[in-house]
Amino acid sequence: MLDKSSLEFLERLIITPSPTGYEAEGQKVWREYVTEFADKTESDTYGSALARLTVSNDVPTIMLEAHADEIGMIVQHISDDGFITLNKLGGSDSTIARAKRVTIYNKRGRVSGVVGNTAIHLQDTKNGGGKQPAWKDIFVDIGVSSKEEALELVQIGDPVTYTDEFDFLSDEIITGRALDNRIGGFVIAQTMKIIKRKRKDLKVNVLALNSVQEEVGGFGARMMTYRHMPDAAIVTDVTHATDTPGINQKEHGTVKLGDGPTVQHGGANHLALVEFIEDVASKNNIQIQHEATSIRTGTDTDSIFFQQTGIPSALISLPLRYMHSPVETASLKDLEDLISLMAETVLAMKPDQTFSV
Ligand SMILES: [Zn+2]
Repeated sequence: MLDKSSLEFLERLIITPSPTGYEAEGQKVWREYVTEFADKTESDTYGSALARLTVSNDVPTIMLEAHADEIGMIVQHISDDGFITLNKLGGSDSTIARAKRVTIYNKRGRVSGVVGNTAIHLQDTKNGGGKQPAWKDIFVDIGVSSKEEALELVQIGDPVTYTDEFDFLSDEIITGRALDNRIGGFVIAQTMKIIKRKRKDLKVNVLALNSVQEEVGGFGARMMTYRHMPDAAIVTDVTHATDTPGINQKEHGTVKLGDGPTVQHGGANHLALVEFIEDVASKNNIQIQHEATSIRTGTDTDSIFFQQTGIPSALISLPLRYMHSPVETASLKDLEDLISLMAETVLAMKPDQTFSV
C-alpha cells in the first residue's frame, strides 16, 4: 500500500505544471524526491532527469523509463482587444477546451485565464455555435482589455495548462490533470524506493529516467538512451482503459480499470523481456492485462528500442480513462501493482542476465 508521504509526493508531482518543452519545475520535484533512493542523480541539457543505483561495472544496466511532460497549450497570438489564441503542445483536444480555467506560466509567475464560451443564448454559426472548435477558434480571456495590457502579463510562447488539479473519486480512484504521465515518474521513483530498500537482492545496475518531450515525438528518451545505452529497458506510461461507454473494444482492445497493469505485445516489445515480466507477475500473483501493439506503441518505447545496436525493451502500462483531458482517471490498485511488477522484475534479474529471441 502506498503510504501517506508517497501519496503526498504523487499529488505534488501531478499538480506541478510540466507541459512539453517546459518541464523544469516538475523535474525539480521528481529529482528532489528520488535523490534519497539513488546513488546519484543527473540531468541532461534539455532537462531529462536520471537517478542511478550502481551494483558494479560487471553486471547489466536496466533502465526504467517514464516521461515527465504533460500535454498543454502555448500562447500563439494576442488580439488588439487582449484575447489570447492558443495552439497545442502535444495532443491536446480543442473540443473540450471551452469554459475551462487555464493557467499561463512565465518567468514573472502565473496568470489565470478562462477559455471563453459564448453563452448558449447568443450562439450562432458565425461564433462557432454547435461546431467542434479547432484551436484557432478558441480564445482565452485574462481580464484585460488591450494587447498592451495583456503583454504586461503574458508573452507569445508562454506555456498553458488547465487549472484542474488532483482529487479522489473514491478511496481507490484518483483523477486529475496530467496523470499522463507524471504518474509514470511516480512509478519509477517508487520502484527505486523499493529497490533501494531491498538493495542486497539487487544484482543489476538501475537507471531511472524521467524523459522530457515525449508528447511531441519521444525526444528526451532518445537523447538519454543514446547517451547511456542500457542493456534492457522497462518503460511505463498510461494506456487507454476501454471500459467506459461508447468505446469499441473490438477495435481498441479490452482494458479495465482496476484489473491490473497491462503488458504490451508486438512492435518494440522484446519477446524474451516480455516473457520475463509475465513470469515475474505470475510468481508474485500480480494480475496483469494484455494489449496488442499493431505498429507503434505510441510511447517512449518506440524511441528507445532501436537506439544504436538495439535495446531489449518492454512497455508496462497503467490503465487510464479520459486520456489527454483534465479529468484523467486511474486506480491506485493498478498503480501499486504496476510498481510491484516493475520492482520485482528488476530484483529478479541475474548478474549475467541477457535477453535474446
Ligand atoms: Zn504518455
